[in-house]
Amino acid sequence: MPSDHPEEHSGKPMVDRIVRCPTCGGDSVYAASNTARPFCSVRCKNMDFGAWASENFRVAASAASEDGESGDTSLH
Ligand SMILES: [Zn+2]
Repeated sequence: MPSDHPEEHSGKPMVDRIVRCPTCGGDSVYAASNTARPFCSVRCKNMDFGAWASENFRVAASAASEDGESGDTSLH
């Protein structure tokens, strides 16, 4: 069977998938052109990594200062 329009039947449909950005919750283009996928941008990707790193640092810091915690946090 001859095909008159091979380009229309070959390969996958070039439709960009839209996913939710884990950082800002916005639309993120899940395509090869988006190097920060599944994030919407490199900025969000870096922000997510920064949050993950700070979370680890915060846990380590709280664990280190746990012995000196008195619970008396009077700010007046
Ligand atoms: Zn984002």
